[in-house]
Amino acid sequence: MIDNTSVEQLKNNIDIVDIISNYIEVKKAGANFKANCPFHGEKTPSFVISPSKQIYHCFGCGVGGDTIKFVQEYEKLNYPEALEKIASMMNFSLAYTQGGSDNTEARRLLEQVQEWYSKNLDHTAVSIEYLKNRGITQQSIEHFGIGYVGASSELINFLSTNFLPIPKAEEAGVVAQRERGGFYARLTERITFPIYSSSGAIVGFGGRTITNHPAKYINSPQTKLFNKSQLLYGYAKAKEHIYANKKLIVCEGYLDVIMFHQAGFREAVATLGTALTTEHLPTLRKGEPHIVLAYDGDKAGVAAALKAATMLTESGFDGSVVLFPDGKDPADMIAVGQVQEVANLLRNGQALIPFVIEMMAKSYELNNPREKEVAFGSVKAYLDNLTPIIREAYVAHASTVLAVNPALFGGQTKLENTKARFESTRDDIGQLSIIKTLIENDTFINKVSNVIEPSMFGNYGALLEAVIKGENSSNITGLMLDESIKSMDEEELSRSLASFLFRYYSIQLKSITVDTALPIEKKSFLIRKIKMDVLPRLRRGELVTYKF
Ligand SMILES: [Zn+2]
Repeated sequence: MIDNTSVEQLKNNIDIVDIISNYIEVKKAGANFKANCPFHGEKTPSFVISPSKQIYHCFGCGVGGDTIKFVQEYEKLNYPEALEKIASMMNFSLAYTQGGSDNTEARRLLEQVQEWYSKNLDHTAVSIEYLKNRGITQQSIEHFGIGYVGASSELINFLSTNFLPIPKAEEAGVVAQRERGGFYARLTERITFPIYSSSGAIVGFGGRTITNHPAKYINSPQTKLFNKSQLLYGYAKAKEHIYANKKLIVCEGYLDVIMFHQAGFREAVATLGTALTTEHLPTLRKGEPHIVLAYDGDKAGVAAALKAATMLTESGFDGSVVLFPDGKDPADMIAVGQVQEVANLLRNGQALIPFVIEMMAKSYELNNPREKEVAFGSVKAYLDNLTPIIREAYVAHASTVLAVNPALFGGQTKLENTKARFESTRDDIGQLSIIKTLIENDTFINKVSNVIEPSMFGNYGALLEAVIKGENSSNITGLMLDESIKSMDEEELSRSLASFLFRYYSIQLKSITVDTALPIEKKSFLIRKIKMDVLPRLRRGELVTYKF
């Protein structure tokens, strides 16, 4: 493990602006710095970095945190990996504690296991035969480190003869514990594909059965190193080509990736048996490539492409969709030498937004006015999620596809982003100023919680509660950096609390007056209490509260 003192030393020397500007272009704006957010597509900067507070926050998508969090999110690293990355950027040498449970050991174990898997392949004729039949060359086998694992006992033997501790192997996702005790290999009788993080470190394996096991492919389980909803197979090998060619191909499996690379399309990556999710977006955004979704043309493939295309375009990505015809996948076509056809398909993909519009429309019977209405509703909702300029550019296309008058799409009902969260009425600003004051000066927490319950704060109740409890959230960092909300000194705070309470009890008074369920004596008592006691005292600036 990294030594704690050394982590503290590193943290004290970090400059958030320095580190972040290694990744994205930042511009000075008053006391802060601004940039286009790297985590969601935008053209006007809503990503703010505060050197005095050493935090960042995006008012567009809500992400935020400190330097380490940024490096974790941007590079897809876990906490210690991010520390190591930052240390190397700062030429700082971290100290390590002996024998701790850091990831280096698990990773070293994976490297050794990988070496062994890959040697095994040479002695397994049936696997080599399979790979040959799929058209995979010896060069690709080596480039992608394809290997083989046999019976469970062989792996267990390998680990023990090489003094590799079983608990480490479990932590690395290579073995699992039996219910009745003992351990077994997670992958058996499978062709193995090592999986690397985007920075090129081994994190796990995928395996394809050669004995017709019902689960054709299996991946490593979720471990400290292996997060399958973020990882993209082949990314580390594709990275330089993605940056150079400003293109990234997303396909559906290991073999597609390998065959694409083999045929010279070296920008290909695949998700690990999952759909493309927002967790993949930070990796996909690196280098700002044009995204080509290369999926099977079958029902499942089309559905996956529609989902991915919708998410990508709503997040500001540009790209196209290629559906491989007649149940063929890219790997098959390349294996039989149809490289030129594949190249043509890739070149002539359909742009993402028209694809989404047409697929949405296609799933309804447009001759039926009721169905047409539903189709219109879903296409409109989709368009409303795009930025105004992009939306406007596609309204004509959508109205042609649906055969409706473009005027029906009207103006955009939703805002481009959620910046509006903190921009509402004057009352809200009063509440937010109270919360901000507490964030900056926690000695006032008692003063406030003596008279205010989080539930009285309506929409901001949860935020107030988090601040009172000293919790962290991105809404808190957002509020810290929101310059339109001012924090107050004690006198201002008292005034602001009194005026909030005055409004609050005035509203209570109104609702009590019309409450028919309240017994008459109780009702007249409460009305008198609020009218004659609570409100006048608040008006004089006294901080009073009354529990019903
Ligand atoms: Zn953002």
